[in-house]
Amino acid sequence: MHFHILTLFPEMVLGGLNTSITGRAMEKGLISVDAINIRDYSQDKHRHVDDYPYGGGAGMVMQPGPVCDAYEALAARTGKRPRVIYLTPQGRVLNQKIAEDLAKEEDLVLLCGHYEGIDERALELIVTDYLSIGDYVLTGGELPAMVLIDCVSRLVPGVLNNESSAEFESFHDNLLEYPQYTRPENFRGLTVPPVLLSGHHQKIDAWRRERSIERTLRRRPDLLEDAVLAPKEQAYLEALREAIAREETARPEDGPDAGKTDLQ
Ligand code: SAM
Repeated sequence: MHFHILTLFPEMVLGGLNTSITGRAMEKGLISVDAINIRDYSQDKHRHVDDYPYGGGAGMVMQPGPVCDAYEALAARTGKRPRVIYLTPQGRVLNQKIAEDLAKEEDLVLLCGHYEGIDERALELIVTDYLSIGDYVLTGGELPAMVLIDCVSRLVPGVLNNESSAEFESFHDNLLEYPQYTRPENFRGLTVPPVLLSGHHQKIDAWRRERSIERTLRRRPDLLEDAVLAPKEQAYLEALREAIAREETARPEDGPDAGKTDLQ
């Protein structure tokens, strides 16, 4: 899979992606990442790529010419016109399903904005998808592009050592992953759940599935709307819902959990 990043800061994205799992995937030729400097397509002798916004207002806007020219040069060089994703807080928020869809592409172009963003006409001409990494504003699209590449790359066959490890992770089936444990067996008095030491794979799978459902209900109940559950699991979920509702009504206002936030 080939990622082409249109950016003003190629060193930022390449430095981050060259390490760890994405770095090894590049070495093995499973993915490639090229960062194209939009500034190289500036039409100005001082290599400017931004200007004041028409109509006034704060900040600078990236001009359409260098952005479109950088894309056209890439299309001419590769003989392809791949999907162009503009990373923007105004896009659909990236999730695992979108990542799975993007992982089917052979080539993806990621367009990173900076300053106040990019002239709307360049977006109209070349962008096919608008994606955000969350409802907050960053200074540039480089970190979002790295997030997207990391998340899509690990779905490319061969990138993860264990083929099944992406399959059972959080968001698969719209459930969060079960809790994980490793050595030591006893850490500061906290022991590993005995079922995980039993060697009984069916029981372990059942325990993990229940913990996934419970964790999703407690932390991300919104995901359960689209989760695919067997009738027995659905019954387990209903029983859990009732137990949690009872826990909540029984919890005293000034008890040990008083003052805890949703994140604790
Ligand atoms: N003025 C823009 C707005 O209000 O929508 C925000 C511009 S932001 C300061 C500069 C660039 O950072 C954007 O063009 C975009 O590429 C990137 N960016 C910022 N936040 C982002 C987010 N949450 N997801 C994806 N890209 C983001």
